[in-house]
Amino acid sequence: MSTRAYGVTAADQSFQGMDIERRAPGPRDVQIDIAHCGICHSDLHMARSEWPGTVYPCVPGHEIVGHVSAVGGEVTGFKVGDTVGVGCLVNSCGQCGSCAEGLEQYCERGWTGTYNSPCADAPGHTLGGYSQRIVVDEGFVLHIRHPQAQLAAVAPLLCAGITTYSPLRHWQAGPGKKVGIVGIGGLGHMGIKIAHAMGAHVVAFTTSESKLDEARALGADEVVNSRDSAQMQAHLGSFDFILNTVAAPHVLDAYTVLLKRDATLCLVGVPASPHPSPAVIPLIFGRKNIAGSLIGGLAETQEMLDFCAQHGIVAEIEQVRAQEIDAAYSRMLASDVKYRFVIDGASM
Ligand code: NAP
Ligand code: ZN
Repeated sequence: MSTRAYGVTAADQSFQGMDIERRAPGPRDVQIDIAHCGICHSDLHMARSEWPGTVYPCVPGHEIVGHVSAVGGEVTGFKVGDTVGVGCLVNSCGQCGSCAEGLEQYCERGWTGTYNSPCADAPGHTLGGYSQRIVVDEGFVLHIRHPQAQLAAVAPLLCAGITTYSPLRHWQAGPGKKVGIVGIGGLGHMGIKIAHAMGAHVVAFTTSESKLDEARALGADEVVNSRDSAQMQAHLGSFDFILNTVAAPHVLDAYTVLLKRDATLCLVGVPASPHPSPAVIPLIFGRKNIAGSLIGGLAETQEMLDFCAQHGIVAEIEQVRAQEIDAAYSRMLASDVKYRFVIDGASM
């Protein structure tokens, strides 16, 4: 079915309207009319070929919410009219050890991303949520239980929410734990809200003066201007866990020195070029860890959506029209977004 979308035809091109083809729903497929799609910094990295392997045309978008408009004959979990979401994954092998454990994001044969992954549909790679509709295997569709009025602000949970929830759960953020969140953008502001709801003592690190007060309102117990070394020194050796969402290369030693013995700095930001190599000394004196984490599996994404619905958590968003995506990217690069742009599907 011909579907309106917004994409780019090369790394240096602006977004333009284009017509793409969506497959007719197969027996296990759910067809979704997209109501809103968040703009993740990964979309920008990919559209502009900042990471290896972008294929064009590129239609990004993996923070998708909408309503089911058709289902295949074998679909059991969804019906027409249901409010649903799709995140970063639309398929995986389903057989490997990671898939068997519900960790589809670590599929050992390679998962299928919502955009830019090889697939059988035209044009041979997946096209994402900057579009009017999408057709997805029901195993990769999530139920949304927030009130309809919050739907636009739920969209960012599908990537920013799960990418912060999963490591916070894995490293056991909760009561009695001091947790740092570095970079208060789309991911970071969700990290603050979720870590706060988990009961941790949350310290936000920002480079933006204008976010110092706001981070408290988001749920941070303390806020540190990461450019102020005295403020940084005050937290030496005190963190159980630090989640770093920054999208640009920077010196990680500033954070490893803030960890307690055996604690972990988890990187989720994926800059276009590497961070400077971390110093070893702060790591060995304290057996500290630098780790990474990738989004989350389907079961955990549903758990996160339900946790957020229960705790009344949604993203802070600014809605944009599809025609404003380039301007939104420029502002995201300038850390000038509070805290996530979401495309209004009606503008497609
Ligand atoms: P974003 O909204 O642009 O937020 C990034 C934040 O990092 C900015 O708001 C800013 O926060 C801080 N920052 C930016 N440049 C900086 C610099 N030069 N030095 C220090 N801090 C800087 O981006 P996002 O959508 O949250 O995504 C963040 C990163 O995570 C991206 O690289 C994205 O590709 C990646 N990502 C990874 C996964 C995963 O599964 N691992 C999933 C989604 C996204 P302050 O203003 O507070 O300093
Ligand atoms: Zn994302």
